[in-house]
Amino acid sequence: MVGDMVVTQVPREFPRQICLLSFNILSQITKVPIMSDNHKEGLDRRDFIIASIATVGASAALAVNTSTANAQDAKTTDPTSGTVYTGDTIQGKKVVSSLDVNDLESGKKHLLYFQGVGMATGQHWYVSVTVAKGAKPGKRGVLTSGVHGDEMSSIHTVQTVMNQLDPAQMSGTVTAVTDIARPALESMQRRWPNQGRGIDLVDMNRVWPGDENGVAAPIRHAGLLFNRLLRPNADFAIDFHTGTTGFEVAAFNIAEMDVPEIKALVDLYPVGQIFDNPTYPSVLHNAFVAAGIPSFCPEIGAARHLDPEMISLFVEGTMNVLKHHGIVPGPMGRTGKDVTVFVGNSAFPILATEGGLVEHLVELNDKVAAGQKVAIQRNSFGEVVAEYTSGVDGEISGQRSDAMAEPGNPLVFILFKKAAPEGVEDYPE
Ligand SMILES: [Zn+2]
Repeated sequence: MVGDMVVTQVPREFPRQICLLSFNILSQITKVPIMSDNHKEGLDRRDFIIASIATVGASAALAVNTSTANAQDAKTTDPTSGTVYTGDTIQGKKVVSSLDVNDLESGKKHLLYFQGVGMATGQHWYVSVTVAKGAKPGKRGVLTSGVHGDEMSSIHTVQTVMNQLDPAQMSGTVTAVTDIARPALESMQRRWPNQGRGIDLVDMNRVWPGDENGVAAPIRHAGLLFNRLLRPNADFAIDFHTGTTGFEVAAFNIAEMDVPEIKALVDLYPVGQIFDNPTYPSVLHNAFVAAGIPSFCPEIGAARHLDPEMISLFVEGTMNVLKHHGIVPGPMGRTGKDVTVFVGNSAFPILATEGGLVEHLVELNDKVAAGQKVAIQRNSFGEVVAEYTSGVDGEISGQRSDAMAEPGNPLVFILFKKAAPEGVEDYPE
């Protein structure tokens, strides 16, 4: 059987290749309008088309709402200028199109809907907003989940934190939005199903900070949320995720640990792995960082189901963050000092080279050495068609959880310490 075996050594370039495979709405946009081979002419035409679309958007805004001057002005309006109630109520909850938590009554919890982008039917995608407004003033934290629609433990973590908060005892405010990519959540799928130019599946964690005048609804939705709900109410922000359907991950935080304000928060989690890497610039937590707001991204196990043990670790860490900022009183819980934390700055991906059933030889959080066999794969006859080995010394941080794999599927991610990290890296969120 040895002759049938394939030992896979994944080259260094793989992270970037995976990145290119990921759906990227921005590259789609720049490709679509360019009709000419002539570089200059193509650029001009693209600019013209984008300008035209913005103009159409402005006309539409004028037609339906004279209080909004137009889409161009809307973009430059100071979104921190106050809370705007649309006058609508959904299931007993008031609807806002802009939120400043300073306008809300202190010492109370407020449940609101925020009006996101419009649908093709003319209604809107609304997202759920819970604000715990402390009796006393203080720091303002923002907790988000549901940027990917299949990541249930992230939602439950945020809900559990919010349920533990007593505004009467708080100094400061915590705002939670649990269902950011509403249409993705409705079908419990990772990506937003968008019909604008035929079927698109938009990864909402590649479009931040969004654009209120963007050429696709998910980009506008991101822009509305970021400008009018999230950024104006955040002194710090945490965007919770999990692994994706078919690929589970260990408990870890993605964070830029060389930023002291971020490191101080991440160190408060009793969680065994830290992926110290900036990852993509267009993810939500990096949009916060770019806006000067400390932020990071917890990853909480497998998609599609709840992992109570991991959830409790991230709830404890998040409550520590709120105590650190003086929002919530009480002693710290367990932190990173109470567990063994492995910090890596790179993720080594192993991709399937064959089709077949995958058998993992190691588990999440196991330490592995370069050259160690971590998985095998069998064809329909039961013959071993591939063996997969680690190219690095590190810790297992992600594994394919669907037993079958086709060539190209990520099978294992190994967190490791690279001497000189470079470029944008994929990660198994
Ligand atoms: Zn995610």
